[in-house]
Amino acid sequence: MRLAVRGRVSYETEISCRVAPFLQAPHTSRMDRRLFLHLLQRTAVTAAASRMLDGSALYASAGPQNPANPGESKRPQIAITMDDPSVNVSAQMGWQEANERILGALAGRNLKAALFVCGMRLDRPEGRSLLTAWDNAGHLICNHSYSHLTYMSRTSYEEFAADFLRNEPIIAPYRRRKPFFRFPSLKEGDTAEKRDRFRTLLKDHSYRVGHVTVDASDWYVDQRMQQRLQQNRKAKLEPYRDYLVAHLLDRASFYRQLSLDLLGREIPHTLLVHYRMMNALFLEATMAAFEKAGWTWVDATVRMKTLSSGKSRKRFPQERVLSGRWLRKAESSRTASAGPAKTTPMKSRRWTRWGCEKLQDH
Ligand SMILES: [Zn+2]
Repeated sequence: MRLAVRGRVSYETEISCRVAPFLQAPHTSRMDRRLFLHLLQRTAVTAAASRMLDGSALYASAGPQNPANPGESKRPQIAITMDDPSVNVSAQMGWQEANERILGALAGRNLKAALFVCGMRLDRPEGRSLLTAWDNAGHLICNHSYSHLTYMSRTSYEEFAADFLRNEPIIAPYRRRKPFFRFPSLKEGDTAEKRDRFRTLLKDHSYRVGHVTVDASDWYVDQRMQQRLQQNRKAKLEPYRDYLVAHLLDRASFYRQLSLDLLGREIPHTLLVHYRMMNALFLEATMAAFEKAGWTWVDATVRMKTLSSGKSRKRFPQERVLSGRWLRKAESSRTASAGPAKTTPMKSRRWTRWGCEKLQDH
């Protein structure tokens, strides 16, 4: 089935109007910024977050050396990473079409992304064709485990380690394979012992963690859109596109502001999105909307120092490293210790879902 929205999606200005432009950052608190930052800097979480960011894993490169427009270098930067490529995209779209669209959108900006591969979804000849296309296009190919086990209480270290190693032959043949590992569901272990044992394993294999600074619920919006299409193959998809783009912009804006509040400076961001039909259809629209909102897309590159030196490990409470959602953790601590947040209130997943549910009946 070829969908009505095939081809370049014309992006409507309406979306950016509905999302608070992050460049007009919502500094609504009357609290003095210096005092606020001073308080923040006294907290261990800030130290930990700084350390983590200074050594952030797979993160956006420093951007163009000689930007054509001098103002360009001041724009916040963000790189794309995409998780869970699959040869089963949806009943409405084959993987070949999804691949063509996603790679086409990236090529349109000459942008290099990083693909985090979960072997069970690609362990067949078509999977190799999918990966070859990404490899040939110059994108990074990284490890996301074989079976996508969540490294929490039900998964032992032994199981998780074996599953990580099982994925190695899947990505080994590709020239652009890079030793970055992304934890499924961004969970880094439910005990300090499990976390540390796996860190040692990663180190022994010269691996680093593929961190994320901006995560979102694109997978959920895709799920709802697919359900809608099952009910009505001719359902209008534009409202889902608008919702997705607004949601991603909102998340990026939130995390950017939070990092500014925490660190007092701009950091290069890394966006996590998933290999789904929705992103195949609307990646181009997402990228255009981010540019319009002031962001600059940059290549995902490899720049990382380990964050698990002995000293930082002691000062980095275990619960803060359970997942890659470091900013979310940091936020809860910050709000408690430093008074009212300056950052836009966190939109919960319930909010995301509630807004998305309304689309089901349009
Ligand atoms: Zn995943």
